[in-house]
Amino acid sequence: MLYLGCHLSSSGGFAAMCRTAHSIGANTFQFFTRNPRGGAAKAIDPADAQTLTDAQAAGALGPVIAHAPYTVNPCSRTEKTREFAVQTLSDDLRRLEYTPGNLYNFHPGSHVGQGAETGIALIAQALDQVMFPGQRTLVLLETMSGKGTELGGRFEELREIIDRCAMPEAVGVCLDTCHVHDAGYDLVHDLDGVLTEFDRVVGLSRLKALHLNDSKNPRGSHKDRHEVIGGGAIGLEALVRIASHPALRGLPMVLETPNALPGYAAEIALLREKCK
Ligand code: FE
Ligand code: FE
Ligand code: ZN
Repeated sequence: MLYLGCHLSSSGGFAAMCRTAHSIGANTFQFFTRNPRGGAAKAIDPADAQTLTDAQAAGALGPVIAHAPYTVNPCSRTEKTREFAVQTLSDDLRRLEYTPGNLYNFHPGSHVGQGAETGIALIAQALDQVMFPGQRTLVLLETMSGKGTELGGRFEELREIIDRCAMPEAVGVCLDTCHVHDAGYDLVHDLDGVLTEFDRVVGLSRLKALHLNDSKNPRGSHKDRHEVIGGGAIGLEALVRIASHPALRGLPMVLETPNALPGYAAEIALLREKCK
């Protein structure tokens, strides 16, 4: 099954996101759990949450991705920022129990000069504080472009974070094509090589989702500027090879391209056509 969708506004709740997804040919989607710049989340409406569970049980939707706010940095140098990260991740994971079986993606964080080792230890420590036995949400570390002191630009860093967690079986990875390309991995000329490397370092069984984005910048630029599908340095053909790769079959793939809904609908239709 090709699970293809895009990032959607969560302001109308799950019912609205399910309707919107259907209207643009999406069978998965991603949403922010709260304002991406941080702040309090709206109260969960159990009846609204049930509309997602029902749509998934009916086969209309695959797993969806809840995205943590960008302001979450569990490896900040500031204790207050680390506490905010733990509170937010913890609150989000408890809320996601209303919609079991889905994915919770976050940016591992920036070590802001403390060094990768310290950063990795702090991230694993934060995960141990917020994850709980029996949780029904998989936590995903997003692959990053490696800008500044950002962790997650190297597959090795993701593996180390997972290895240090108390519940590694509930931690996976979301591969963002723009970020991986900007981090220096050659998705355009050597997709199989990148996937082999991912498998060797992290394990392909830990790959649970993709962000399908083109990139405004050349490989290795460490920039993280998304481009519309086919409009950037990765290009349509390489993105089609990714979306249709047998090793990635069945994973939810979400567009985070600079688009409004009609643009997303067109990109989803184009990828579906090319991946037939
Ligand atoms: Fe992200
Ligand atoms: Fe992303
Ligand atoms: Zn990005």
